Amino acid sequence: MTAASAPFGTELRVSPELSGPLPSGPLPSGPVPAVSNSHRLDTLVVRGGEPERHGYAAVATPIVCTATYRFDGSEEIADHFEGRIEREEYGRYGNPTVRVAEQKLSALEGAEDSVLFPSGMSAVATLLLAMLKPGDHVVMTSDGYRRTRQFLRTTLQKFGVLHTFVEPGDHAALALALARPGTRLMLTEAPTNPLLRMADLPLIAELCRRQRGVKLLVDSTLISPYNLRPLEHGADLVLHSCTKYLGGHNDLLAGSVSGSRELIGALREQRGVFGSMPDAHSAYLLIRGIKTLAVRMRQHNSSGLSVARFLEQHPRIERVYYPGLASHVDHAVAQRLASGFGGMVSFLVRGDLAATSRFVDHCCIPITAPSMGGVETLIEQPALMSFYELTPEQRRAVGIAENLVRLSVGLEDLDDLRADLEQALTFV
Ligand SMILES: *Cc1c(COP(=O)(O)O)cnc(C)c1O
Repeated sequence: MTAASAPFGTELRVSPELSGPLPSGPLPSGPVPAVSNSHRLDTLVVRGGEPERHGYAAVATPIVCTATYRFDGSEEIADHFEGRIEREEYGRYGNPTVRVAEQKLSALEGAEDSVLFPSGMSAVATLLLAMLKPGDHVVMTSDGYRRTRQFLRTTLQKFGVLHTFVEPGDHAALALALARPGTRLMLTEAPTNPLLRMADLPLIAELCRRQRGVKLLVDSTLISPYNLRPLEHGADLVLHSCTKYLGGHNDLLAGSVSGSRELIGALREQRGVFGSMPDAHSAYLLIRGIKTLAVRMRQHNSSGLSVARFLEQHPRIERVYYPGLASHVDHAVAQRLASGFGGMVSFLVRGDLAATSRFVDHCCIPITAPSMGGVETLIEQPALMSFYELTPEQRRAVGIAENLVRLSVGLEDLDDLRADLEQALTFV
């Protein structure tokens, strides 16, 4: 392992006069991580991707706040640019705290490398602009993240990159779209938002492989690597809005892409040019959030399923969308690919837009807010939140019913939560 992936080794070379008292005890024994990526996920979330020792023998990953990095002399500059050593150079190209977050994500996804961005959309935009050129063609499922679709329709269109949206689950249409000359990238979410469709990743990966040169990118923000690791199912790249489950506390914005060293290297290069470098504080919060990912996800999975079952039998609920329910259209696919189904539950209330709003407004524990995946239960009526500016007809066309509710089940007591939903439903 190189010095660059052991980010806190270098600070121990600072002379004692400058650094104050040296840490007592033995100096770092080298940049080898104490925990290899062959450990189980519960171990990797806590220890994976971190060097064996941080500076000052700190157990927690230090937040390194610096815009630039000192060179010890001209010789070291030459060594750096000739690739004989790996070290940080300038803050827009790298930061040791950010690097630990990236290595942790690689450990969780089983990826060669990962790159972190200041938000999920920054990851999406940088990736698409880095990988595509005028005349190229992208295929995306029609129910993908709204801003990602907007990026294809506006920015990429402006630069001459073409796109086709295909209905989720329509594999014949997908094969046809992928066969179009110039196709470079297939983008799908697993699962999608808000109807939680689960893409059949091995099948889609096979369709992409048949068209040489088509890379498969999977945004699996809604389920997290605890439940699904898309690279194991044939994806080339996996993307997360770390703002959601990975951060897990509704207190940071970040995005990531994981994949082969070659593809991620190209994205890191592009990030340095765009200047879309996350800051060390967010990276620290992300590392801290990931440490409890496994315990949080077990609870999200079990509470999500319980709430979905509770709602499904409730007389004031018309329909529930949750991949863990046998009634979900992609239940079999989800069961085959994922070890759990997360805390996102969408449902139709038996009532119109106003009746649904009354229910949402009377919820006490769920907070009305966009976003998802944190410890707090969040609720929203997509017609009034993410899709506010569309007409009812336009909403219907994109599958957003007026009485649709999206619930991100958090970590509160399950009985409290169910009782609260029960009382709020009396206002429908
Ligand atoms: C939230 C989200 C994004 C965008 O991430 P930000 O961190 O908000 O920029 C992208 N994809 C999916 C599936 C998301 O839920």
